[in-house]
Order: sequence, then structure tokens, then C-alpha cells
Amino acid sequence: EAFIPKIIEVNYIEGSGDKRWSSLDFPWTKKLEVNNKKVFGNHSFRPNQREVINATMSGCDVFVLMPTGGGKSLTYQLPALICPGITLVISPLVSLIQDQIMHLLQANIPASYLSANMEWTEQQDILRELNSDHCKYKLLYVTPEKVARSDALLRQLESLHIRDLLARIVIDEAHCVSQWGHDFRPDYQGLGILKQKFPNTPVLALTATATASVKEDVVQALGLVNCIVFRQSFNRPNLRYSVVPKTKKCLEEIDKFIRENHFDECGIIYCLSRMDCEKVSEKLQECGHKSAFYHGSMDPAQRAYVQKQWSKDEINIICATVAFGMGINKPDVRFVIHHSLPKSIEGYHQECGRAGRDGLHSSCVLYYSYSDYIRVKHMITQGVIEQNTMTSGYSRSNTTNSGRILETNTENLLRMVSYCENDVDCRRLLQLVHFGERFDSSTCQKTCDNCLKITSFIEKDVTEIAKQLVELVKLTGQKFSSSHVLEVYRGSLSQMIKKQRHETVRLHGAGKHLSKGEASRVLHHLVVEDFLKEEVKKSDVYGSVSSILKVNEPKVRNLFFGGQGINMRFPSSAKASKPGKSDVTPAKGSLTSGKLNPPRVDTLAQPQTEMDLDLSSK
Ligand code: ADP
Ligand code: MG
Ligand code: ZN
Repeated sequence: EAFIPKIIEVNYIEGSGDKRWSSLDFPWTKKLEVNNKKVFGNHSFRPNQREVINATMSGCDVFVLMPTGGGKSLTYQLPALICPGITLVISPLVSLIQDQIMHLLQANIPASYLSANMEWTEQQDILRELNSDHCKYKLLYVTPEKVARSDALLRQLESLHIRDLLARIVIDEAHCVSQWGHDFRPDYQGLGILKQKFPNTPVLALTATATASVKEDVVQALGLVNCIVFRQSFNRPNLRYSVVPKTKKCLEEIDKFIRENHFDECGIIYCLSRMDCEKVSEKLQECGHKSAFYHGSMDPAQRAYVQKQWSKDEINIICATVAFGMGINKPDVRFVIHHSLPKSIEGYHQECGRAGRDGLHSSCVLYYSYSDYIRVKHMITQGVIEQNTMTSGYSRSNTTNSGRILETNTENLLRMVSYCENDVDCRRLLQLVHFGERFDSSTCQKTCDNCLKITSFIEKDVTEIAKQLVELVKLTGQKFSSSHVLEVYRGSLSQMIKKQRHETVRLHGAGKHLSKGEASRVLHHLVVEDFLKEEVKKSDVYGSVSSILKVNEPKVRNLFFGGQGINMRFPSSAKASKPGKSDVTPAKGSLTSGKLNPPRVDTLAQPQTEMDLDLSSK
């Protein structure tokens, strides 16, 4: 029997440019205007809000990509208010749900929620209310776990559906459906059951982060039909982006940066581990800043207290893990600093997105070192990294899919590394490409570090350098870290390297014409492009972590025998580099002509201790 491949048809329609949806002639237009003003207190609609509302109220399945703070909630809360029946909202976090319900009740819109950690009798009361003929709720919020595990809820939804009272199904934070997203939640995958059971009920999926592949994943998993997609640019013109090499003086630099640019203004510093949060906050307090820390091992009351102080401007700076953020709505966050490497570009974009909601200029500074990459990678492998969700039982990957999730997470992390090591291309372009958006770098107007310093660049063929590096990894027995390989390549004469010299004599110092930054950029490019693999392991009894480079044979064959070439861009002239950073003088005949950038990479990775990695945390 012939094998017939299954062709997956993704059928969706771009809604963004379609005039039909912005029409003022829908039967409900007048009601929208009145209630938007009266009940929600808004003077007008924000971009795409009216269009999304018209499409979902016309009965279509709709997928909305709107930046954080863009006003997604209104696109289902307003229809819920004026349509007969109940709107079911699936939202990932109980704390988010409670926040939404508080706002709805304040506006006199009856709403409720069901969650697994609610008293059974209370749940019964709500289910009974849903069953009544004059159900008072306009919106019912549930967590995805509830849909997956509660037959009582599904039965109740069926009963509502039969009575024509299930108005709409809303999937908030819909990127959680996709394993390619930065925030995968297994229970979101089961939500496809809703479309199966209620094929004619319109579904509205909302997210602030989705690459093309995430979008397709979501549309597939939810079973959306002829779905209309509304998306708007993810570019945030008022944010300024930069990546700074992370040194031991990082905290002093952060203090100086805040003092000089944002003193007494409000900001977030994202840290990798709980211990980092506390250390960074303590240091900033010593420097005279009003700071506090926030992470997952604090009890909920403590967390709420810190968040409240911050909202009321009693504290300026929060040093937090990514647990801090979802649903945070402070408009005047003037800076977001990443004290270590974020775990994906999507996550990074969303974290930066918490700055400058009021449209005023704000800064996003990322402190990058290659050793942090090793650290994050280890935490991902161990499953100990903190997520930006607080619900229990989720922070570890589920076992059935853990292999693929690990792979995805590692890949997402490598993209982030490549973003940081790119000292040529516009940061906006690099981010937006990731979201499948076209962007003309000239519109950046020098609001990112790369555009600011680079006046022109040249493309260089680095194939020979790449081959030499791969060979060197083989010659040294595939048992050394990237920093070691780089030292040999650039001709270091340290004791350790002398011992080995006879094996590597042909390539020892072959790259001495390159600067440290250039050589490491090529080497890391090889890791990011999968020619070399980086294995992380605990190297000694103290649990310090190190990485070892291995050769990915099948891929490398193309390089040596398949005629594959590798090109990379290098700045051809760099204006004066940031003061105090240029401690490496360019070698003669280096890749770039003229003055060099300082290397962006701290290649001499410091081993991290187990304590630093915060392995003890849940
Ligand atoms: P998102 O879910 O897209 O991140 P929200 O729905 O939480 O954003 O809305 C963010 C903020 O914007 C809220 O404070 C909300 O009240 C406000 N908002 C939403 N729509 C409008 C509007 N049309 N006019 C003014 N403010 C709005
Ligand atoms: Mg939202
Ligand atoms: Zn730029």
C-alpha cells in the first residue's frame, strides 16, 4: 500500500488589513461604543480591538497577536457583556484570574472562576448557578487543568451549550498550547476537546508572543476553523536595546547605569536564580537604591506585599526571577535589566515589553556572558529553572514529552545566545525576525547598541576558520571547553596547553591573527549552527559545571566535503567603543579592517558552583 503523507492544511485568513472588520455598521456597533465608555471607562478603541470584537461577534474563530498591554482582555470582556449567555475564559494562572475578576466586579460585570484548589462546596455552588435558567455570570474563568480533569465542568458546559448559553470560548495566553513557545503547558494541548464538543461556538485565542510555528501549532491544537488572524507589529519604538559584556564588575555597572540614566525611576532586574535576586537587591540597597527581591520561594503574602510596594512607588527596583511579570500592568517602568541570559528570545521580548507601557523612552539592558549560557543550560537540563507561572506541579517538564521539550528549550536558548553574540545586526530586526515580522533596520534610528555603533559592515567568508576550529576540537580529543579550544587556537602558551601541544601542533596558534572576540564569535556560531555540540556536565565533587565541545559529524561532513561555506558579517568600522571595555587590542591582519569592537564575549567561563545554580529550589 502506498504511503500517503498526511497534508496538514492550516487555514487562516489575515484579518488585519481587512476593512470589513473596522466597519461601524454592525448591529452591535452602538452598544459597543456605549459600553466601552460607560462600563470600561475607555474613550476609544485601541488598534485592532474593534476589529477583533467584530470578527468574534460575527461568529468567526479568531487568533489575536497583540503585544502585552495592548488591551486583549477588552476584546472578549466587552462582547461577553453584550451577548446573551456565558463566555468561558481559559487562563493559565489563578492569580491572573483573580485579578481580572476583581476588575470585572468593580465594573459591575458578574464573573466567577473555578479552580482545583477551591473548596468543593464553593465549586458546587458555582456549578449549580451555571445550571440555573437565570445564571447571573457573564464570564466564567477556568484554568486549563480544570478543563482537562473535571468531567463535572464539561458536563456543565454541555448543558449550557444545549440551552444556547455558551456564547464564546476564550483561550488567553494561547502560546502555552505550543511546545515551541517559551511557556509550554501540557494541559493547554487538551483544549482541542472544546472545539470538538462545541464546533459552532466561536473561539477567541489571545497571545502576546507567537512565532509563525507557534501560531500554526496553536491553530492546529485548538482545531480552529477558517480562523481570522489579527496581528500588529511587535516593534516597540520607545524601548532602547543593548547587550553589554558581563564582567565581575556587573553590579557596579548596573548601579552606575541606573544612577546616570534612571535614578529614582522604576525598573525590573531579571535574575536567574533566587539567590541572585537577593544578592543583586542587597547590593543595590547598599548603593542607596530602593530595591527589593521577588521570587518563587517567597510565600504568596510576601510576594503580594513586595508587588504592592512597587506599584505604589515605595520601592523603585524589583530584582526578580521570571516568576515576576505576567499580568503586571505598571505603565511607568523605565528600565528592564537582564542580569543574566534569558532563556528564549520570546521570553526576552516579553520581559522587556514590561518597560515603557506609557510610550515614553525606556531602556532594556542585557548583561551577557557565555558562562551564563552554560549555567542556564544546566538549569534547563536539570529542570530547576523558575518559570513565569506560579501554579504548582508544572515547573518540571512532564515525562512523556520531556525529551522534545528539552530539545526545544535548548534550541530557544541557543537562539538567545546568538542574539547576544551578534554585534552587527539591529536588535529590533533580530527580535522581529523571530516573530516572523519584516523590519527595515533603518527605522531603528540608532536606538539599539548595534545600530548606534556600526556605520558599515563587511561580509567575510569564515569557512577556513570554521574548518580549523572543528579540526582542533577533534585533535584535542573532544573533551575540552570552548574557552580552552580558543586558547589553543589563538596560540596560548599556558602550562596546560603546552602539555598538549604535540597533538595540536599543526593548529596551535593558527588563529593568532584573530582577536579573542572574533575567534569566539566564529566558534559560537558553529555551536549555534549545530556543527559543534556543547555537552554540559558536572565536573567535580563540588558540583561545578563545565561544558565540553563535541563534533556533530553528519553536519560537519557538509562543511568538509559538501562544499558548504560559512559567511559572517563583521563591522568594518566601529566608532569609539564603550569606555573602559576595550581591553583587548586587535591583532594584525584581523578579520575586520580598522578599529575593532571590544569582544562581547567573556570566554573565560568561571565554573559555577551548585549553590549558585540554586539546585535546592523546588
Ligand atoms: P493585555 O492582556 O493585552 O496585556 P490588558 O487587556 O490587560 O492587556 O490591558 C492593558 C491595560 O490597557 C488595562 O489597564 C486596560 O484597562 C487598558 N485598556 C485596554 N483597552 C483600552 C482602551 N481602549 N482605552 C484605554 N485603555 C485601555
Ligand atoms: Mg492579558
Ligand atoms: Zn537597531
